[in-house]
Amino acid sequence: MERFMSQENKVDVIVVGAGPSGAAAGITLARAGKKVVIVERGSFAGSKNMFGGAIYEFPTIDLYPNFKEEAPIERVNTQHRYLINDDNSSVSVAYKREDQSTSYTVIRSKWDSWCIDMAIQVGAYFSPKTIVRELIIKEGKVVGIKTDNEEFYCDIVILADGVNSILAKQIGLRKNLNDTEIAIGVKEVIQLPKNVIEERFNLSENTGCITEIAGSPMKGITALGFMYTNKTSVTIGLGVNLDELKKRKITPNELLNKLKKHPAVAPFIKGGELIEYSAHLIPEGGYNAIPKLYADGVMVVGDAAMLVNNIHWEGTNIAMLSGQYAAQTAIEALEIRDFSSNMLSLYERKLKQSSFYKDIKSYKNAVKIVHSNSSSFLKYYPEKINEFFEMFTQSGFIPRACLYRRYIKNFLKDRKISKLLYDILNIIKIFFDAIK
Ligand SMILES: Cc1cc2nc3c(=O)[nH]c(=O)nc-3n(C[C@H](O)[C@H](O)[C@H](O)COP(=O)(O)OP(=O)(O)OC[C@H]3O[C@@H](n4cnc5c(N)ncnc54)[C@H](O)[C@@H]3O)c2cc1C
Repeated sequence: MERFMSQENKVDVIVVGAGPSGAAAGITLARAGKKVVIVERGSFAGSKNMFGGAIYEFPTIDLYPNFKEEAPIERVNTQHRYLINDDNSSVSVAYKREDQSTSYTVIRSKWDSWCIDMAIQVGAYFSPKTIVRELIIKEGKVVGIKTDNEEFYCDIVILADGVNSILAKQIGLRKNLNDTEIAIGVKEVIQLPKNVIEERFNLSENTGCITEIAGSPMKGITALGFMYTNKTSVTIGLGVNLDELKKRKITPNELLNKLKKHPAVAPFIKGGELIEYSAHLIPEGGYNAIPKLYADGVMVVGDAAMLVNNIHWEGTNIAMLSGQYAAQTAIEALEIRDFSSNMLSLYERKLKQSSFYKDIKSYKNAVKIVHSNSSSFLKYYPEKINEFFEMFTQSGFIPRACLYRRYIKNFLKDRKISKLLYDILNIIKIFFDAIK
């Protein structure tokens, strides 16, 4: 890294972290001819990273216009399935459109590396195996980074160091999170032949399916399961609130093992070989947990800034956009040599205008409401929905009108009217927040 630095070990911008947000910041700065170093603790970009996962056309195409042709994409997602599980049954809703898609499954170790290669090609310097231990602060301004052995200086630091951002905490931009504001994601990658995946998920060649799963075996727990199809593997996993794990004394692995055995899930992965297991934290606090995103000489992007849309499992899109906007702000700041917090606040103003930020704001109460009413939304109603379809699909000697009446009677018996009204009010609240 020293060779890339000027005599005083100084560059224009240092980006900490080579995930989607860091790579986006790096490539934007390098394209503008700025001297930028991307520092990553892993041995290569993506080596420490995992996700579900899908990346999205926007803003990926602005940053990497050639990504559809050249990037290591697994499948184009043309199908979305939502499973609402009870213990032995499942109700599913599927949406499929073959000729239009804006999401792509990728494997992070390959994708992150490809993005960093693109940034290097346009002039960014990449320093893997380098842990940033702390920020250098002079007269209240961030002016550089300290690694294990050295100090490096710059005009602006962009913190793209992920959900745990110790560096954002060091300068008071992030507080310690409470257990409700963090989830843990665990996943397994199960290898299967390409044609088997396409048959089981009803896919045409190279198209993919995203499956989201609520209810059993995570019944009543603030947790959601997922399956993503790759070329020759299926990713299966779940994200579960840390608070729930502590309260219920369960482990995410127990839940994942049960999920793999659920009758609506097991046939998709049957006979496959486990080739990877990984776990990672997910910011869960939503809009209310987003901190101030800048201070003198520093901006915070991506997961480090808690920018995740948990309802849609979207984090990479706003990570990339925030990296891009922080870099654009840095470019303007470098032109006028003003690295003050006032100047860098432009980044936050730009981000607040974006659809991704507005989406997170739209769901600002949704996760909290679902979490505090998980026994209703993630247990009782999934059970009732399954019960309804059990009744609706069975033919027997009892007239259906009797079955319907019994269903409604039972529903009203075990659900007090006051509780029902409370649940309806919560749904209305989520709905109005979403359209506000
Ligand atoms: C189970 C799971 C499923 C998900 N599914 C999806 C999905 O399908 N679609 C989607 O869009 N999002 C998904 N997400 C969210 C998404 O992965 C994140 O929002 C996204 O990766 C954030 O990007 P980032 O660059 O901000 O942070 P990260 O990707 O976490 O990158 C941070 C980087 O900083 C490095 N770093 C950290 N500290 C230091 C340090 N001190 N010095 C040097 N380097 C450091 C890390 O090694 C890492 O490479 C999922 C997340 C999880 C956990």
